Parts: sequence; C-alpha cells; structure tokens
Amino acid sequence: VIYLDYHSTTPCDPRVLKVMLPYFEEDYANPSNNYHYAGRMVQSHIEEARRKIASIINANEKEIIFTSGATESNNLAILGLARTYQGKRNKIVTTPIEHKSVLKSCEYLEKHGLVIDYLDVDHTGAVILESAKDIIDETTLLVSIQACNNEIGTIQPLVEISNIAKESGALVHCDAAQAVGKIPVDVAHFDVDFLSISSHKLYGPKGVGALFIRKGLRRSLEPLYWGGDQELGLRPGTHNVPGIIGMAEACLICEEEMVLESSETKDLRDLFERSLKKNIPDIKFNGNEHNRLPGNSNITFPGVEGDALLLNLPQLALSIGSACNTGAIEPSYVLTAIGLSREYANSTIRIGIGRFTTEAEIMTAVKEITDAYNLLLNKVI
Ligand code: PLP
Repeated sequence: VIYLDYHSTTPCDPRVLKVMLPYFEEDYANPSNNYHYAGRMVQSHIEEARRKIASIINANEKEIIFTSGATESNNLAILGLARTYQGKRNKIVTTPIEHKSVLKSCEYLEKHGLVIDYLDVDHTGAVILESAKDIIDETTLLVSIQACNNEIGTIQPLVEISNIAKESGALVHCDAAQAVGKIPVDVAHFDVDFLSISSHKLYGPKGVGALFIRKGLRRSLEPLYWGGDQELGLRPGTHNVPGIIGMAEACLICEEEMVLESSETKDLRDLFERSLKKNIPDIKFNGNEHNRLPGNSNITFPGVEGDALLLNLPQLALSIGSACNTGAIEPSYVLTAIGLSREYANSTIRIGIGRFTTEAEIMTAVKEITDAYNLLLNKVI
C-alpha cells in the first residue's frame, strides 16, 4: 500500500521509536514520585522534553503543558478559558472550517449561553480580514483560528488576525496541529496566547500533544478534569512518559530537517499535481495554490464520486474530505464552506504527502488514479 494520508496521521519515525523504547523497558518509574532516584530521573527527562517542544514554537518551556493530543488541547484552551471567565466578554470567534474539536467545543459553549460567531473565509479557505474587523469586538473573549487547514492545507493570515484581536483586547488560540513541524510556527511572531500541538501529525507517537499557554495566563484556564498535581493541576493524570519523550524527539527532528523536508515534499506534491492534471485536464485543485501546506493536495474529479474512486484504488491510502469525518454521508463541511457544490465536494479526495513518500510512489499513484478515474467514467483509453 502506498501511504498518502499524512494529514490524517504520520508514521512514527524510527528514530523517535528508538528513544521511546527505554521508557517502556527500564525508565518506567512514575515521574511524579520524587522520593526515589528513578522517578526524579524520569521527571528530569520530561522537563528536557518540554524544552525541546517549546523550542519548535519559540516558546518558554514553562509555557508548555502536556495533553493527549490536539483534541484535548483545543478543548482545554476553549472550554478552560470560558469556564473561568466572568466578565463582559461572552463571545468566541472562530471559522466554519476548524477541526471538530474546536467547532464542537464552541457549540457546547453556545448551549451554555456564550455567543459564537464565525469569520468568513474566501474560496481558498483563507479568513477574510474585513470580516475579522467586523466581528471581533470588545465583547470577544477568544479568537480560535487554525494555523492551516487539515483538508485543503490553506495557511491562515494569523499575524493579521492576532493584530485585529489584540486591538479589541481578545485572546487568541491557534490550532496548529497540522502546522507544527511542517511550516514555521512561532508563538511570538503569531502573537497567540494558546497554541495546540499534536505529536502524531509530526512523526511522533499517537495519544500525546501539548498546549502552549502564554506566561501569566495559566490561571485563566480551568482544568477539564480533576486529580493530581501533574502539569500544575491543569492536566492531572500520570504522564505518558514514552509518548512525551517521543514527541520531543519528533519535534527536534522536524526542527532540524523542516526546511529541506518541506521543499522536497512540495516538489513531490507539485510533480503529482502536474502529472495528474496532464492525464486528467478536468480536475480542479482546492485550497490556496501557493499558501498551503507543502504536502497537501485536495482534488475534485468532476463526474466521479470520491468514495467510488477510493474503492477502485485499493493500493493507495487516501482520504475523502477529512478522515475524522469518515462514516458521515454529508459532504465535507470545509469544502462546502469554501463554496464547492455538494456534488463537487462529494467528488473530492485528499492526498497527504510526507517524509517517507518517494517519487516512484507518486508516479504509481498518478497512474492508478488516472486508470480508476477513466474506468469510472467508462472511457478506457
Ligand atoms: N486539529 C486539526 C487541524 C487536526 O487536523 C486534528 C487531527 O485530525 C486535530 C486537531 C486533532 O488532533 P489529535 O488527533 O491529536 O487529537
């Protein structure tokens, strides 16, 4: 099988797995127990991991707390903030193309009396800044914006949105699950207050992530659940030590290799799109042509259903819409929000290219997709 679903998840890099293994076999002590040396040593490794993770987003290690992934980080930032806030600010501003962990957290708060407002996005998925100026105001508590989209890859104008938010005194949360490790993410440059990271999107293990909380804001979050004092009580529960160590190594590798890797990934993506377009001139690419994740290609095949195409491509691991929504019959809400008709949205597949993709795999995928498309259109050439 040729794996082209890197937005859904990435394989754990073998270098990452290697540094994790001792934490299953030897260094298994609980880092919260500082009565014995073994526990204290693991605790010091956790702190080292925190530094590595902080470094990739240009944060201080004291601003990082460990979670189970970006879903939890997004929930903690949004619900955690809303639950402590008692002032006049009762509005959360987001976009219609966020991940469900953001959208559903907002919907939950709406049921409990908060106002949720959505920024307009253009046909590439980029936030329209005029709508940010109109909607973000003195009643806005938080603006939650993804760094880039998990379906169409479009990168958001975060600096501009943060500027607008700061003028109204609103805080900013960024879901950077798809961005960290792929494109530069700098919390100081973005001027965000909270930022979510997921390990399994950057070649680390699954089930671990982090939330950046700007210095001074930790107390403005209420925990999602209650227990011990880990992560200063904001995220109780025994640390996922191998996961945290693995995530830190994954961040370190990304930091060192990102510039070269993203340019190689982009070259493969461009080769894929050029070759496929040559074979099937009718296809349409969605998202922002230039300002998008290097490994993302989101393609509409007019006249052919995306799931039928996938069924005819058993050798390729791809997605229709977002993998997190599989099982849903509805067309992708991201694609309809950027103006695609239901028919076009249902005729769309997502390709995610990444670290281990080869040129040979790309050329095989192009051929197989072309054959499957032609077969479905019943015009065998
Ligand atoms: N946010 C975005 C943009 C994502 O793409 C995903 C994963 O699909 C998540 C959040 C959730 O991340 P996790 O799987 O770490 O909970």
